[in-house]
Amino acid sequence: MPDPFFQPVSGFDLPRFAGIPTFMRLPHVPPGHPRFAEVEIALVGVPWDAGTTNRPGPRHGPRQLRDASTMIRAENGANGIRPFEAANCADLGDVGPNPADTADSLDRITAFYDGLVGAHIRSLSAGGDHLCTLPILRALARNGPLGLILFDSHTDLYRSYFGGQLYTHGTPFRRAVEEGLLDPARMVMVGIRGTAYDREDRDFADANGIRVVAVEELHDRGIADVMTEARGIVGQGATYVSYDIDFVDPAFAPGTGTPEIGGPTSWQALLAARLLRGVRIVGADLVEVSPPFDPSGGTAFLGVSLMFEMLCAMVDPAG
Ligand code: MN
Ligand code: MN
Repeated sequence: MPDPFFQPVSGFDLPRFAGIPTFMRLPHVPPGHPRFAEVEIALVGVPWDAGTTNRPGPRHGPRQLRDASTMIRAENGANGIRPFEAANCADLGDVGPNPADTADSLDRITAFYDGLVGAHIRSLSAGGDHLCTLPILRALARNGPLGLILFDSHTDLYRSYFGGQLYTHGTPFRRAVEEGLLDPARMVMVGIRGTAYDREDRDFADANGIRVVAVEELHDRGIADVMTEARGIVGQGATYVSYDIDFVDPAFAPGTGTPEIGGPTSWQALLAARLLRGVRIVGADLVEVSPPFDPSGGTAFLGVSLMFEMLCAMVDPAG
């Protein structure tokens, strides 16, 4: 019998526009709460975008994503998965960043996720820009390097920006490989496209054996075929899933800082997340939703819909 405490508020009981908007209408169980130890999957906001190199705004993402997430119901219409009955899920609130100090913010985020790892709680996080993923990986990879499935239109593998700045949202996976947080042989990056400064990021991927699936190949082969390959690359080992909303075509997800045309539709984006079933996901995130560029709220709604699909994959690892 699922614990009633960990069930989301139903729209049958309270209209979905009413009440305080926690993620997916789950209970708010911050660290220190008497039931914290019972949480199995934490939904966490990381409202921080100090890594943004161009159009800012993802620091406002968690709040808008929470609001949009009141649209999410308890059952996956495609496969019948009911994630909130399969695992104790809760909204742990936000990690408090220091918007004036990047290094301090990185440490604060890692410390928060250290607490989750220590309590054996898996996490599904909402950014924030893509630099948020690096301090999360620092906590989650304490026991050895992880596999990675990245959905993104960019590799985020650049060495540095602006003459030596190592910590931006274009560099997290370069740092993560250098720090031994990720196993390059178990990394796959899907959806890469757009104009580029140069090929330095792609050369790094090639030199390290990181699989990059450009969007042209993704469109040629289809989502299902590429996801079969992706699941094979990460295998049965512990894997992190990072989903940059700019993976999706800006026709469907304009509310992001660095859009690239020619991407997947919202349907293909959902399917990609749905086909994560079978992956041993130790943590996942959805990043780069930028509310100032999302006046309709449609990008945030797509973002939380992708979070729900990832959550379903996390509770059903058998596929
Ligand atoms: Mn990214
Ligand atoms: Mn991107």
